[in-house]
Amino acid sequence: MAALVLMSSHAGAQETATPVVSIASLEAVTVEAPMVSARALESVASVCKRISDKLASVAYQECVELQLQYSGHRSVEDIPLLIKEYPPLGRRQPQARILLVGGTHGDELAAISIVFKWMQTLEKHHSGLFHWRINPLMNPDGALRNKHSRTNANGVDLNRNFATPDSGVDAALEYWRVKTKQSARRYPGPFPLSEPETTWLFQEIRDFKPDVIIAVHAPYSLVDYDAPDRRNAPRKLGHLYKNLMGTYPGSLGNYAGVHLGVPVVTLELPHAGIMPTNSQINRLWTDLVRWLVRNT
Ligand SMILES: [Zn+2]
Repeated sequence: MAALVLMSSHAGAQETATPVVSIASLEAVTVEAPMVSARALESVASVCKRISDKLASVAYQECVELQLQYSGHRSVEDIPLLIKEYPPLGRRQPQARILLVGGTHGDELAAISIVFKWMQTLEKHHSGLFHWRINPLMNPDGALRNKHSRTNANGVDLNRNFATPDSGVDAALEYWRVKTKQSARRYPGPFPLSEPETTWLFQEIRDFKPDVIIAVHAPYSLVDYDAPDRRNAPRKLGHLYKNLMGTYPGSLGNYAGVHLGVPVVTLELPHAGIMPTNSQINRLWTDLVRWLVRNT
């Protein structure tokens, strides 16, 4: 069931998810030289084309109008990694810097689509309260191929490829061998930050210095929280309840939340291929912003 993606209807606050078959007519993307702005724009548009072909709830025009920017980083298969920034406005000092990441796992399509929905919200309502940096699709190779995959083009689980500073360089590999019985879906890569996608996020965290990182996944239907002090973990965001998981060697939560001390809120949507309803999408967002107001 590769390309069957169930998405909620665009129309109104309909509560029933409507199945929509997304036709992934995947064209080869011609990646242009990033330093030439006209070509960079063209290249962003071609990524938008592929995203909208894959995701029923992201329209091509909507994606183009977001004016996503080329981050300067590319995936293994040379797809530009795109970002969107909602910067400080006027003289208002933002309360905090927030990094929002979708699509770490390429087979969790709802976790990409919902970030696009939230960017649409910010397009209308960004007030300068927070300084947002958004990477809607960290793993384009996994997500945009015909048969989408959790891992990147090198077969690496990007959420196991970060450094685990206090556990030795082989901690993630050791965990993978012993605990996951070498599950192909959880291969951490030959060494930490071996992949261009994780290298990008690593540098983004270093340069942007987020106060909080929000990562969207599916399908475990919960809110997880990695931070030095987990007591202020969100109890409930929208229809998702707190359920603190373990921290895995090589995960973003372990690296940023535990080692760097930058809290990581992980939203696990209930379904990888079915979008929450419009009201759930909105409720998740308002609860998230409320939690950020109180905890940053
Ligand atoms: Zn995931």
